[in-house]
Parts: sequence; C-alpha cells; structure tokens
Amino acid sequence: MSETATPPQTASRTAEQFDVLIVGAGISGIGGAYHLTRQCPGKSFVVLEALDHFGGTWWTHRYPGIRSDSDLHTFGYRFKPWTSAPIATAEEILSYMGEVITENGLAPHIRYHHTIGSASWSSVENLWTIDATRTDTGAAVRFTANFLWMCQGYYRHSKGYTPQWDGMETFKGRIVHPQTWPVDLDVAGKKVVVIGSGATAATLVPAIAGDCAHVTMLQRSPTYFITGRNAIALAEELRALQIEETWIHEIVRRKILHDQAVFTSRSFTEPDVVKQELLSMVRANLDEGYDVETHFTPTYRPWRQRIAFVPDADLFKGIRSGKASVVTDEIERFTETGIQLKSGTALEADIIVTATGFNLCVLGDIAFSIDGEPLVFSDTVTYRGMMFTGVPNMAWVFGYFRASWTLRADLVADFVCRLLNHMQAKGYSRVVPALRPEDMAMPLLPWIDPENFNPGYVMRGMHLLPKRGDKPEWQHTQDYWAEKDQLPAIDLDDAAFVYG
Ligand SMILES: Cc1cc2nc3c(=O)[nH]c(=O)nc-3n(C[C@H](O)[C@H](O)[C@H](O)COP(=O)(O)OP(=O)(O)OC[C@H]3O[C@@H](n4cnc5c(N)ncnc54)[C@H](O)[C@@H]3O)c2cc1C
Repeated sequence: MSETATPPQTASRTAEQFDVLIVGAGISGIGGAYHLTRQCPGKSFVVLEALDHFGGTWWTHRYPGIRSDSDLHTFGYRFKPWTSAPIATAEEILSYMGEVITENGLAPHIRYHHTIGSASWSSVENLWTIDATRTDTGAAVRFTANFLWMCQGYYRHSKGYTPQWDGMETFKGRIVHPQTWPVDLDVAGKKVVVIGSGATAATLVPAIAGDCAHVTMLQRSPTYFITGRNAIALAEELRALQIEETWIHEIVRRKILHDQAVFTSRSFTEPDVVKQELLSMVRANLDEGYDVETHFTPTYRPWRQRIAFVPDADLFKGIRSGKASVVTDEIERFTETGIQLKSGTALEADIIVTATGFNLCVLGDIAFSIDGEPLVFSDTVTYRGMMFTGVPNMAWVFGYFRASWTLRADLVADFVCRLLNHMQAKGYSRVVPALRPEDMAMPLLPWIDPENFNPGYVMRGMHLLPKRGDKPEWQHTQDYWAEKDQLPAIDLDDAAFVYG
C-alpha cells in the first residue's frame, strides 16, 4: 500500500505516535520491550500483537507434548534466570515470559488483537505509518512510529505447511497440522500416523503414544537426534551449593554455549565421528537389532538441519514399548483408510498428522512501502541480518538456527538500543544501511548458503529473502560466538549507515 492509498472506511484519521513500534509479542518482542525500557528509558513504544496473548510460538502451538528443543538457560533471556529443567513446556515458557512482563511493567505497552497489514515510510516526515486491523472489533487503527522493530518471527502463525498428496480428499479420517491442533481432537484408541520426523514429530509421538492404539512416525528420510537427561548436572551442583540463581544462570549459559561451540565445530571438522557418536546414542536407546541404519541414519552431515534433543529418550522409549514405530518410505497417495506407500505397504490410520513444517513468512505478511514504492525485500542486502539496504529506521530479529534464538534477540536488542541512542545524541532522524563504494562490486548471494544450513521452509522461501554479500557486514551469520563480540563493536559511524 502506498502512503497516499485511501485507508479502510472505518480507519481513524488520527494516528497514535510512538518513538518505537515493536511488531509481535513473542520471545523477541517482549525481550525488545524489556531492553528498550532499560537502555532507552525516554523512548515511547508500543508492542502490536495479532494474537490475543503474548508468547508467539509458545501460544500458537498447542499440540500434545509441546516443548522447547533447546535449553531454557540460553533460550531464556540473558537478564532473567531460568531455574527449572532445561527443556521446558510451552506452559512453563509462557509463565516465564509472563513474569518478565509483570516484573518490568510491560503490560501497558502491549496491544493484543492488532494485525498489522501495511507499513509505509515517508522520507519527508521520517516516519513509518502502520495500519492495523483489530481482530476483536474489526476496527482499522493507525499508528506512526519513528522506528520499526520487527519481532514477527519467521513463519505464518495462522497455517502450517502441508504438502499436497494425491487422494487427500478421499481419506475418511482427520488430517491435522500440529500448528493448528484442534481442541476437540481425541487420539484415545486411534491409529495415528505422524508425517515428518523433525522436532515436532519427535515431541508429539511420545506424548500421544500412551493414549492411541498405535502411532507411526512416517518419514521420507531420517533425522539426527541427541538424547540425554532433562537436567544439567552443573546447575544441580551449583544449586546444591546454594549459589545465587543469577550466577547459576550465567555460569550454566557459558558452559552450554562452550559445549555447543565445540560440538558445532566438530560437526564441520570431523562430521563422520560426530555422526557415529549420535548414532550410537540412538542405538543405546533401542532394542538390539533395531534397524538404525534405515530409520535413524541421515545422509547429510550433522547440523545441516537442526538437531532435535530428545529428553530422557522418550521417543525411543515409545518405540521400545511397541506403541510407536518408525516407517521410512515415500507416500504414493492417501486412501480412504490411510496412506499407500511407494514400497507397496499400506498404513492404516484414523488420524493423520502432517508435521511437515512451516510456511516461511517474511516480515509478518505486512505490505511495506517506502515513499510510495512497494518494498521488494529480496532486492535488499542484509546488514548483518538485522537491517536492510534502502530500508530506513527498521531492524529485524532473526535468531540462530544452531543456538537458541533468544541469544540473538538479546544481541540485536543491544544493537537497536545503541543505534537509537546514537541517533538521538547526534540529532539524526533517519538511518538507512547502504552499500559503500568498496562494496559495489561484491557478489550478491542467496540469504543463506544451503551447504551450511538447508531446512525445508528456508529453501522454499529463499527467493523472498534479502541477499547477502561476501563480507561479514553484509551477511547473516549463524555464529553466536563471533557475533557476541562483533555486534557490540559495530562502529555506528561506519559509511554503511547513512543518516539524515
Ligand atoms: C514448536 C516450536 C518449537 C521451537 N523450539 C525452539 C527452541 O527450543 N529453541 C529455539 O531456539 N527456537 C525454537 N523454535 C523457534 C522459535 O520459533 C523461536 O525460537 C522463537 O520462539 C521465535 O520467537 P519470536 O518472538 O521471534 O517469533 P514468534 O514466536 O513467531 O512470535 C512472533 C509474533 O509476532 C506476531 N506477528 C507476526 N506478524 C504480525 C503482524 N503482521 N501483526 C501483528 N503481529 C504479528 C505473531 O502473532 C507472533 O505472536 C521453535 C519453534 C517452534 C514452532
């Protein structure tokens, strides 16, 4: 929508003005709000959220067993200790976020039921105009903001990704996606097939195995898993010594990050050794003679896709109990009674769960325009995965794939606050990242190197994402260890930032 487009009939012509507008009340948006109050106390701000509650991912997903797949010491915020078991349920994460909101007086800043449809930048006013629709009343509402902080996540919350298979319409049972789990779905005594073997499937299968007649995890190709106790020995030891929780949080974070860095590095330098270690962990949790080769041995090297943590080996316990099984095959078609596989086998099902991933959602499905011209995001170049060439006064939070998302949300928040304070001190109203003369000949590449990381939702949406260059400034690295030092050291007077 252009700046001059006529707003919807019911739109109020008066806009509420804020210094900063945060899109989304998930872990990133709530974190952003916290950091703003601490690091930019004078700034007015609002958080607009389409849903009726905070939490984002952890509010949207309601499937049985929903839990984190990384530890909450690092998925939790830097500033608020996590004091429970490292792998947490959605309920525990929501309760933690709720405490952050209450303890820091953030509630009055959050507006729920606000779906943002468009955002238009005016270089004359140095202002964003944001049009939203209230999902509870249908009213159109308008805001203006000097700075937009995009904490909208990376996938469409309203609908998950389900591939289309022949015969789906003929299936007599129910087909459900975990992202939109029906409240009335009763799996008791039912034959369930879960398509997929990512973190969601690995969580769901053991969670329902006890109730249903049988659950089959149907995968085209295997995934890596790590198993272990849902506890951190060091945290337990420090707690027994009555060390303060703030200290435990910091020490355990460092320990986890250190161990992860070693593991990630080894998955590049000695992928075969790491692969064998992961496979022996799986073997140790299954009966002797189980066909680990077929069902749990991926063809790609470890860490090319997220590795799901299976706490207390619950997925494998389900398989050993006989209530859950894994089938590695391809779907020929859906039938009235289940799924016909390419191998010739037929899987009977009352319920089919498509744990097949997300629809990548770039910039929250918001129609962006800059001075009346629609923003083509894929024409921009990313500035360290936080800002984009030609897009003024806007930052984006996209976390890590291989480490907890929130580690980056905290780092980006520090950067945004520093930038806002810098602009205020220098009297600037606008900042736009721009390629410098020395960057002009730089090759422009896809946002992420598929050799490095290639999950389905990223591959499906790569053409919608910004480009990267061949210098660190123009790349969205996935390296927490480099960024924890690089982002705080960014020279805000560098020529990559054009102020006005
Ligand atoms: C089931 C599941 C488990 C996961 N587990 C982990 C894990 O253990 N560790 C990890 O690091 N990562 C995990 N992830 C990735 C996870 O999504 C992120 O780590 C993190 O929760 C993202 O937080 P966010 O606030 O950036 O985005 P989200 O949680 O996606 O929240 C974005 C919010 O923005 C709102 N929004 C979007 N567009 C608009 C709009 N146009 N107008 C208004 N509001 C809008 C949405 O409604 C939503 O509430 C998991 C993801 C899923 C789906």
